[in-house]
Amino acid sequence: MQRFTNPRDIYHGKGSLEALKTLQGHKAIICVGGGSMKRFGFLQKAEDYLKEAGMEVELIEGIEADPSVTTVMNGAKKMEEFQPDWIVAIGGGSPIDAAKAMWIKYEHPECSFEDMCKVFALPELRHKAKFCAVSSTSGTATEVTAFSIITDYDKGIKYPIADFQITPDVAIVDPELAETMPKKLVAHTGMDAMTHAIEAYVSTAAAPFTDAPALLAMTMIKENLVNSYNEDKAAGDDMAARDAMHSAQCLAGIAFSSASLGIVHSMAHKTGAAFADYGAHIIHGAANAMYLPKVIAFNAKDDRAAERYAFIADYLQLGGNTQEEKIAALISYLRGMNDKMNIPHCIKNYGADSYPTEQGFVPEDVFLERLPEIAKNAIGDACTLTNPRALSADKQEDIDLMAKLLKACYYDTEVDF
Ligand SMILES: [Zn+2]
Repeated sequence: MQRFTNPRDIYHGKGSLEALKTLQGHKAIICVGGGSMKRFGFLQKAEDYLKEAGMEVELIEGIEADPSVTTVMNGAKKMEEFQPDWIVAIGGGSPIDAAKAMWIKYEHPECSFEDMCKVFALPELRHKAKFCAVSSTSGTATEVTAFSIITDYDKGIKYPIADFQITPDVAIVDPELAETMPKKLVAHTGMDAMTHAIEAYVSTAAAPFTDAPALLAMTMIKENLVNSYNEDKAAGDDMAARDAMHSAQCLAGIAFSSASLGIVHSMAHKTGAAFADYGAHIIHGAANAMYLPKVIAFNAKDDRAAERYAFIADYLQLGGNTQEEKIAALISYLRGMNDKMNIPHCIKNYGADSYPTEQGFVPEDVFLERLPEIAKNAIGDACTLTNPRALSADKQEDIDLMAKLLKACYYDTEVDF
């Protein structure tokens, strides 16, 4: 038996933020990030709509990028004091992910962070509050997914919380919010979305219900991402590609929330914060963009995965006659997207602001020293479970394979193993 779970309502299209007026309750707490939602007036709008719905409103502001366990615990305390019956999270992946984890702690104060990270083992939520997510970036799709990523900075590791309990009740996918994204964020979040769609499509938990949104997402991302990157609202562009990307990333989210992901994400989670002490926080979307082509070559050793990658290449009309040629076309197409959006191909070249550079943040010796630990952590990530080529944390040869793959992602060398 498999399960396909989505929010009960997805409001989409320009101006759909207004759907906040339809929420029924007494008290809403708004969780929001660094300030762009405030600056562009969306926070005020959201507050006004909720008040119009007859609710008392409080704010949790300033949720940082890659939110920490501490942020989650502090937010939950604030919720405990205010006792909201709606949690409304507005912004990119970070504030929404943080709010999801706060929600768990608010409903179940006895639940520790370790408890939360047990995959699909959360206690029942919604005894105290429902959850509405309003996304302002076009990538994580956390507004529709059963996932939340929280960083444990003591360990330097990102942990995914995964359970359909945290799938929001209401998602609002209003492209007006995404029009404010800076260029770099468009690139990263867009490649994150492409990775979601491709990993969901080859996942061992893929099903017709997830294949359909995954494939459509890939087509829409192909047609719109690079254009969205080049669109500029200030220059009077119509932002049509940016708007389409907001829906595309949500479709990819619908796919991966139920099909889960694969080792591109395992590796991105476990390398993201691993070199933070060298000033290199490897941004999630950039990590995915660098690792995806390598992982495709690696996973293609599995027959079913190879067939599915080739199908994607056909579906996106990338050319190639044999299966091998089609997979190669897919890999080179994805690398081309990185080039068009100024994303490096490997960790070695990952430099300031995530742009490609000759010598990036992560020194070779530091990478090699930490590699065995990172490889072990990556295999242990929840996303490895549905990777098409099976890898087990109990087998040393698999940990060695993962280390080899990570090395290819550091040096940008060919994957033929
Ligand atoms: Zn992702």
